[in-house]
Amino acid sequence: MNTMLAARLHEPGGKLHLDNVPMPVAGAGDVVVQVEACNIVPNLANVLSADWAAMMKYLPLPKLPAIFGLDIAGVVHAVGQHVHAIKPGERVYVNPARGCGSCRFCRAGELLNCESFIYQGYFGRGPLSQAVFDRYPTGGLAQYSLAPADALVKLPNTITFEEASRFGYLGTGYGALKKSGLKPAGSVLINGVTGTLGVGTVLLALAMGAARILGVARNETLLARVKALAPGRIETLSTQSDNSVEAWAKSKTDGEGVDAVIDALPPRAPASAQLDAMQALRMGGTWVDVGGVADDLVLPNYWMKSRNVTLTAGRWFTPDDGREMAEMARGGTLDLSVFEHRRYRLADVNDAVAALKAGAATDAGGFTNFVVIP
Ligand SMILES: [Zn+2]
Repeated sequence: MNTMLAARLHEPGGKLHLDNVPMPVAGAGDVVVQVEACNIVPNLANVLSADWAAMMKYLPLPKLPAIFGLDIAGVVHAVGQHVHAIKPGERVYVNPARGCGSCRFCRAGELLNCESFIYQGYFGRGPLSQAVFDRYPTGGLAQYSLAPADALVKLPNTITFEEASRFGYLGTGYGALKKSGLKPAGSVLINGVTGTLGVGTVLLALAMGAARILGVARNETLLARVKALAPGRIETLSTQSDNSVEAWAKSKTDGEGVDAVIDALPPRAPASAQLDAMQALRMGGTWVDVGGVADDLVLPNYWMKSRNVTLTAGRWFTPDDGREMAEMARGGTLDLSVFEHRRYRLADVNDAVAALKAGAATDAGGFTNFVVIP
């Protein structure tokens, strides 16, 4: 039997162990991908912690020991007998969103709404998720991973594997912007703009042609880096020095407010910071929450009605959204060259997780990209 190296978690809160495990074998509609880069996303340290299993009962982990690792970019190694449009040797990003394949939502192509949904290599969304983990047990912290062929995004040669492994957070921002109905002549405020999700959302808003992009966060050094991405289109506000987001946003939009607010705040941020940014919406605008704020939000329902606004939330993105991002990157409208990659070998994966925990991502904020190169 062929084997491969994989970093596995054996107990909640423990270290990842480098183990020899069986190589995945492609089922008829599946693909085996040789992993060239796996992103160490900001939330991975939380998912691996002892607290997660205890507190996040509605987001179950796969049965341990398990191979984690969410966002994979690599090269197709083998394809199943019914896979015809993907060939060995092709460069791909692997969208880790998996459904059961047979419920009514999966059959309608809405696998994000599947009760058994999982992020392969990460966590599930319900008690039925383990069956999907059993079918696709390989996260990206391994030499090879198994995926259904319809999860793949083909990559042009101009996108590096490190850049492509960032597609998860980029796609979440892209999905939110699409949900907001943002138009090229439109305006968008991104709350938490200097984080991993925030920086990615700015890059997609630029790619989609948004005329006015307003970024709100605390760290002034990082905000200056965000503005430098496109000084003529981006304005920034540090809530460290000025808390009046609504007045500032209206001053930048002819007194109207913005068409859309995308909330990309991290888990520790207070719900009050979400409400402050929400007030920047124009009459009839749309708020989309894709961030990590866990506090309950007390909705200003009278304000909502009088301003005729839409408040909604979203998560993740489809493989076809991934294809669109790859195409924008190929054409040069989506600029992925801004990331500072921090590369770790598979054997050093615990160092990458420890660096995340220690806040090593904060000095360059969302411009940092932690990747493991197996
Ligand atoms: Zn399903």
